[in-house]
Amino acid sequence: MMKLDIQMFAVPDHRVSKTRKRMRRSHNALEIPGMVKCPNCGEMIKAHRVCPKCGTYKGKTVVAPKEAE
Ligand SMILES: [Zn+2]
Repeated sequence: MMKLDIQMFAVPDHRVSKTRKRMRRSHNALEIPGMVKCPNCGEMIKAHRVCPKCGTYKGKTVVAPKEAE
């Protein structure tokens, strides 16, 4: 008996154009969830938390800011 090694795999009908490829990948960017810009100093901070850099929350200074830098 003859043994046939036939492998089936997907064969694309058409080449994907640069535009279609880029449109598909427009959703692939990684994002940092829950991060927001501090309205006082512009640093990226965790949302709903006191800014660790300038020590403000809701426009008021809550804790003493770090003196470094
Ligand atoms: Zn800040």
